[in-house]
Amino acid sequence: MHEHSFIQAIISNIENKDNVVEITLEVGELAGIKAEHLKEHLEEEMPWKVDVVERTSKVKCACGYEGRAKIRQRLHDLVVYCCPKCESFPEIIQGEDIKIIKVVYGD
Ligand SMILES: [Zn+2]
Ligand SMILES: [Zn+2]
Repeated sequence: MHEHSFIQAIISNIENKDNVVEITLEVGELAGIKAEHLKEHLEEEMPWKVDVVERTSKVKCACGYEGRAKIRQRLHDLVVYCCPKCESFPEIIQGEDIKIIKVVYGD
């Protein structure tokens, strides 16, 4: 499943998994999974404290608009977005990635 692949990608990117106490993720609002939802799944899977920070999007459209995307619909693992000005499909500059921004290890 799509969201399961997000979880697996995060877990496989973390070294010394057994010693991790806490991780912080930055989740773009166009990433295809809600930050809170990602947190739930990850906490089910691993004994870590998971913090999530949602990052707003930035898109660039052929009409000249540059700024936050308009989210039309958010399905379980898919975000449908467009340019808020002309409603066409813009290029994403920021906001579709999931990044690991902090990992805290215990002793
Ligand atoms: Zn789910
Ligand atoms: Zn536009």
